[in-house]
Amino acid sequence: MYRPSARLLSHACRVFLGSLCILALASLPAGADERTKIQPQWNLFSPQDDIKLGAQYSEEAEQQLPMLKDEKVNDYLNTLGKRLAQFAPGEKYPYEFKCVNVADVNAFALPGGRIYVFRGLIQAADNEAQLAGVLGHEISHVALRHGTSQVTKSIAPSVGVAVLSSVLGNNALGKLVTVAGAFSLNSLLLKYSRTDESEADILGVQIAHDAGYDPHALADFFTVLAEEEKKMGVPPEFFSNHPSPEHRVERVNEEIQKLGGRPANAKTDSAEFREIRRYLFSLPPAPRRIEVAETDPYGTANAGATPDAPSAKLQPFENDAVKLEFPSNWKSNGQGSAVTLYPEGGVARDERGNPELAYGAMVNRFEPRAGSTLESATDQLIASLRQSNPALEVHRRPEPMRLGGQRALSAYLLNDSPIKGKELIWLVATLRPDGVFYVVSVAPQADYDHYSKSFEATINSFHFRQ
Ligand code: ZN
Repeated sequence: MYRPSARLLSHACRVFLGSLCILALASLPAGADERTKIQPQWNLFSPQDDIKLGAQYSEEAEQQLPMLKDEKVNDYLNTLGKRLAQFAPGEKYPYEFKCVNVADVNAFALPGGRIYVFRGLIQAADNEAQLAGVLGHEISHVALRHGTSQVTKSIAPSVGVAVLSSVLGNNALGKLVTVAGAFSLNSLLLKYSRTDESEADILGVQIAHDAGYDPHALADFFTVLAEEEKKMGVPPEFFSNHPSPEHRVERVNEEIQKLGGRPANAKTDSAEFREIRRYLFSLPPAPRRIEVAETDPYGTANAGATPDAPSAKLQPFENDAVKLEFPSNWKSNGQGSAVTLYPEGGVARDERGNPELAYGAMVNRFEPRAGSTLESATDQLIASLRQSNPALEVHRRPEPMRLGGQRALSAYLLNDSPIKGKELIWLVATLRPDGVFYVVSVAPQADYDHYSKSFEATINSFHFRQ
């Protein structure tokens, strides 16, 4: 029913190119600098929002990804990355670089300066200048604010600029998550357009150049990646948003020419890089992305099989907002202001690989229009849920009940189940100082009776912390 965040991995920004040709270009006279000036894209967020959003989503990223957590490697990445970031234009973000223990050649950047470098990328690079080129590309996504610009462009047309502008203020994230139709936000943050990728290539080359690195290394690295991908094979949709490989290398070389070519005494390698690379090769091999995906927190590999019946025994859960109890054989997964409680196999994947809750409960907040009553706020919430779930219909109109000792409304909704037939959704909503607090409990209609007792036990255990 609801769509939580897309798997970060599948949206990780690839610096990959397929087949390619590297063009030899004559250099301009030394010193000439006619670099491309990149104009900022439409963005309703503030740089502070970028930092907040990135920090929030980095928590989720680090829960889902196997982090290397090696001080030596992360220190090296931070020293190199921060040196490069000094040459990024615009707002100075608090850059932070971390190594992910995955063998794939990949890297991605969250808004506000959190950059993740896969171990396979460092191991695949021939020299520091190649790594610097890739880091320059990722830093460029941050500096050019591509993540929040994509969110702006994706959300503003559907909710209206005025609404989006009005929610960007205090607690932008919590409000935005609801505006975004619940959970597509984090996939949007990493869904860069072709133009974004081109801009990041161009600015990345400028950054590497200005930091004194051989800017041709980025183009060289594309060759390394092409070979890597030939070996591994990658689903074609992975590249759908990237410019054609030939064009990409061509454009990088064109930019180098505009910059006046390779800087004098351009740096190619360093003893530190060689040491880190040697050290990484000495560690036990990192898993491949596909192996990591199988251990994803939702356990969607088992989706399709009917989950085990919910245990009558309950376990506690608490976060900043609530304390509750839920079946002891279920798991919990928090993201942003939302918490998902679900059994193994209870989360399916839609055709785009986004997780969808088929069995379980989700707790979240929703921002209604100012001054809304509980009745009107609940209607707004249902309308908002319908935006991201077009098949959603009201099965039983809202009726009064209690949640955590507060006046609440209870309604039943019907939707298409991601697993089988129709699903029944029990929605319980109450008004809190920071908006509507709600719980949706979901199961396929055919199985709902086996879950209703557990859903009730969880609802009855609710306790607001303040
Ligand atoms: Zn990119």
